[in-house]
Amino acid sequence: MIKEDCIFCKIANGEIPCKFVYETDDVVAFDDLNPQAPIHTLIVPKQHFETIEDVNDPELLAKLMLAVKEVAKIKGAKNGFRTVINTKEDGGQEVFHLHIHVLAGRKLKSLG
Ligand code: 5GP
Ligand code: ZN
Repeated sequence: MIKEDCIFCKIANGEIPCKFVYETDDVVAFDDLNPQAPIHTLIVPKQHFETIEDVNDPELLAKLMLAVKEVAKIKGAKNGFRTVINTKEDGGQEVFHLHIHVLAGRKLKSLG
């Protein structure tokens, strides 16, 4: 399902023009508008899911994880990368269409 007035639905389904880093039948990746690292790409399912809690299809979850590996390779994140999924209020989620952040290109601060 695609949700009207969802910015990531519009980007992922070509309604808003955007250069994709990666695309399959189910998933797209594009660079973050406000990058927090030299490489900052978002991986988004084409179907609308508000959060990861709403995805029950193990195949789609696997496709999203495969996209993480592909994007890191395509972007040349040779020294490693960080993967983040902000979920709901405590997770700091701002866009309520599931997305995975891939951050790389500098040494990121330890979470601990
Ligand atoms: P969240 O906090 O929901 O995990 O992060 C949402 C991310 O989406 C933010 O890093 C923000 O910069 C990015 N973002 C919001 N709107 C747009 C947009 O229209 N285009 C792109 N490329 N990124 C966006
Ligand atoms: Zn959406």
